[in-house]
Amino acid sequence: MDYTLTEEQEQLVNLVEEFVAGEVNPYIEKHGHEDFPWPLFRKLGLLGLAAIPFPTEYGGGGLDYSTYAVVLEEFSRLGTRLGSVLAVHGLPQLIINQFGTPEQQKKYLPPLSRADLLGAFALTEPHAGSDAQAISTRAELHDDRYILRGQKIWITHGGEADVYIVMAVTDKSKGARGISSFIVEKNMQGLSFGRRERPMGLAHHTREVFFEDCEVPRENLIGQEGDGFRVAMTALDSGRITVAATSIGLAQCAFDHALKYSVERKAFGQSIGDFQGIQFMLADMIAAIEAARCVTRKAAYLRDRGMPFNVIASIAKLLATDAAMKVTTDAVQIYGGYGTSEDYPVQALFREAKIGQIVEGTNQIQRMIIARELLKKLRS
Ligand SMILES: Cc1cc2nc3c(=O)[nH]c(=O)nc-3n(C[C@H](O)[C@H](O)[C@H](O)COP(=O)(O)OP(=O)(O)OC[C@H]3O[C@@H](n4cnc5c(N)ncnc54)[C@H](O)[C@@H]3O)c2cc1C
Repeated sequence: MDYTLTEEQEQLVNLVEEFVAGEVNPYIEKHGHEDFPWPLFRKLGLLGLAAIPFPTEYGGGGLDYSTYAVVLEEFSRLGTRLGSVLAVHGLPQLIINQFGTPEQQKKYLPPLSRADLLGAFALTEPHAGSDAQAISTRAELHDDRYILRGQKIWITHGGEADVYIVMAVTDKSKGARGISSFIVEKNMQGLSFGRRERPMGLAHHTREVFFEDCEVPRENLIGQEGDGFRVAMTALDSGRITVAATSIGLAQCAFDHALKYSVERKAFGQSIGDFQGIQFMLADMIAAIEAARCVTRKAAYLRDRGMPFNVIASIAKLLATDAAMKVTTDAVQIYGGYGTSEDYPVQALFREAKIGQIVEGTNQIQRMIIARELLKKLRS
């Protein structure tokens, strides 16, 4: 495995840096994080960054997951949330690309690749998060359409997105094998959105999503009835690499701030970075980042080579998000009282890091997946 960036990856990193310095930072300075950054999202499409690992045939970049992870990490390293926006937008693309019919691919992938449409992934319900098999949103077939009834919660891009991949139960008697997935468009009758949730971190755009006799054409079923749980879990395996990548970028961002501050800030007549207590903290922070980055690159490397990667993706997600939590906590500590202030960057990174430990399977669930696979191998 080669840990150096390819020429193409370096060019993309430079492109991201230019875009963030020239357009993203000025935009966020003017508009803040409150509203979904539509102009920036559209620009991602124009720059060819909205579908990096998806087929060129449908307007994607045709690049590998390793490159995708490098780009997402860079957006986060520069203190933006665009890496996470791309990661969520990537889930419907991945699902339609991997499991969709040619008609679904032709219809949805090109506008998603161009960022003309924004995507979302809707699995979680008020009473079913980690235990995703327990969802109760129902989908019943009536002639040429499914009627969906139920509710989702915490749906990133909810109310903003144009295309939702929705998991719903088509056969209650079959457990996980009775779950199916659907492509639901924002304007379909019976789809509505609840209040904006306000999770901690850099403003997340999540909302409840309601299905009140929501009519979805039969041709929007993904794969066969009963495939939905497998579809969702397959997408999350890849999604965990993207959560890991954005968490590493976030941790690196906090570390870079803390390192600089440790030189600037004086106490007892010297830079705080001259104290061994701070030096050891900095050393542990960068060690955690480097270790998580190596594992994340390995997960992407295995995925790119068509090798099993679900366990290593879970390990990457676990290590990277725990590293981000630790690094951002220590960054706040290094800033002292200023670290808690909204006038300084690290408190926002600290709050954002917590989200990573929860989304796309909490870190307890990652440990469950890792241990289950280890035991399965031993018993088989
Ligand atoms: C900002 C944000 C964005 C999100 N975006 C999306 C999205 O776009 N789409 C979507 O579908 N969902 C989304 N989610 C939901 C997220 O995936 C869930 O919150 C997550 O899966 C956990 O589910 P839960 O909140 O119901 O917690 P619960 O499942 O109720 O878990 C509560 C606690 O119990 C622990 N726990 C549960 N089961 C076990 C077990 N077997 N062993 C040990 N511990 C266990 C958990 O780890 C956790 O600590 C988002 C959430 C947030 C906060």
